[in-house]
Amino acid sequence: MRTELERLVALDREQVLVAHIQAVLGWDQETYMPPKAIEERAEQLALLEGISHEKLVNSEIGRLLEALGSTTERPQGDPSLAPEERAYLRAMRRAYDQATRLPAELVTELARATSLSQAAWAEAREKNDFSAFAPHLEKMLELNKRKAAYLGPGKKPYDVLLDLYEPGSTEESIAAVFASLRRDLVALLAKITARPQVDDSFLLRKVEAERQAKMSEWLMHLLAYDEGRGRLDTTAHPFTTTLGTDDVRITTRYLEHLFTSSVFSTIHETGHALYELGIAPSPEFRRTKLSEASSMAIHESQSRLWENTIGRSLSFWKPNFAKLKTLAGPALDGVSVDAFVRAINKVEPSLIRTEADEVTYGIHVILRFELEAELMAGRLAVKDLPAAWNAKAKELLGIEPPNDTKGCLQDIHWSMGAIGYFPSYALGNLYAAQFWAKMRKDKPEIEAQIEAGDVAPVLSWLRENIHKPGAAYLPGELVERVTGEKLDARYFIEYLTDKYSKVYGF
Ligand code: ZN
Repeated sequence: MRTELERLVALDREQVLVAHIQAVLGWDQETYMPPKAIEERAEQLALLEGISHEKLVNSEIGRLLEALGSTTERPQGDPSLAPEERAYLRAMRRAYDQATRLPAELVTELARATSLSQAAWAEAREKNDFSAFAPHLEKMLELNKRKAAYLGPGKKPYDVLLDLYEPGSTEESIAAVFASLRRDLVALLAKITARPQVDDSFLLRKVEAERQAKMSEWLMHLLAYDEGRGRLDTTAHPFTTTLGTDDVRITTRYLEHLFTSSVFSTIHETGHALYELGIAPSPEFRRTKLSEASSMAIHESQSRLWENTIGRSLSFWKPNFAKLKTLAGPALDGVSVDAFVRAINKVEPSLIRTEADEVTYGIHVILRFELEAELMAGRLAVKDLPAAWNAKAKELLGIEPPNDTKGCLQDIHWSMGAIGYFPSYALGNLYAAQFWAKMRKDKPEIEAQIEAGDVAPVLSWLRENIHKPGAAYLPGELVERVTGEKLDARYFIEYLTDKYSKVYGF
């Protein structure tokens, strides 16, 4: 390896170390920290954030990148370098450009406006008062447009923001994928709602938290989550966090009258953790920008593949339902595996995205994507957002929110300035379905293996194809490399149609 590259990796590793230390403190804050510790913890985290930023904007990094031939236009650098080295330079150049392009005063203004906006949003949601939040949303849009102008001068602002979460994507590329998805999801939903609803009442029976904790431990173990490199704790909102290359932790929550909440959030977060733990570049690039996920959506494809494709399938529950019944106690008495699988796949249009099933979830995301694009382009005024939201909900889901709390005020994202984030959620499902189709083509025996109680072949395929390269490929490159095709919503629709025609009998 060239000495400039070695030096670059050394500088990068220091920044990654700081980020992992931040994660340790962040994890502690969400899990075990006593409440009065919050004030100093905020200072600790702010200090580390500053150190992390300084390490990344270090001008020596800029000089090293240039010496290695990496520029904004040609981020991969000198063509004589090895493919992994070139992939690394691209990832590093991207991080460096993003960190150095924003003027300090804009960063400060964004931070201040974001905390005010989030507080205003929380109160507005509580009081169902969109007008109190509207000026903050206007401010967040304006600041994000300025941010986009610095990050991608001359480019369409919304494209620049989308690229932050899904590298390589644009409004046009996402709209092309969502166009057929929108039409097909709405048609599928109509077929489902025309059928008698499935019975899921037994899922509301009480299952004590201790029983649910045993279920979660069993499931993590079943999915081969290495407990020597991670752990499970409880928090109000489940999440996965990377504290180190060999320390990826997850959390879940136990709702006594909805035990499937912990079952599926544990599987979901385990999917995220398996991805993080499976990223394995060459030793020279361990603990660098190459040891990160390809994108948010690819991350989400991993959690959802385990949660939905595997975790809500009859093939998975056939060999495992007896054990679940034992752990659940009397709650599942008299329930058959078929009835259980139907219940966990119930589809019902609802107002809240985070409670949506697999079919309607994508519709919620498309609604947000379309409105976000209009807001960013200035075709939709903030004051008209509630009416536009409600009209789209009626059009796409067939139901209209009775108030803004259950409508355009429900999500935190826009108040945080995370504009361009929503599409990742739906893209994750699409990637998962396309990967799953390829996995079954590569390993035709895989469903029989799952039915025989062996999910290890699923993980080994994911490890080899998706996890290992980490950030070496942009999501668009990864999907083409692995499946031989561009991202195509058809696979997701085929998967849903096959599944729900069985659940609902059409
Ligand atoms: Zn997730």
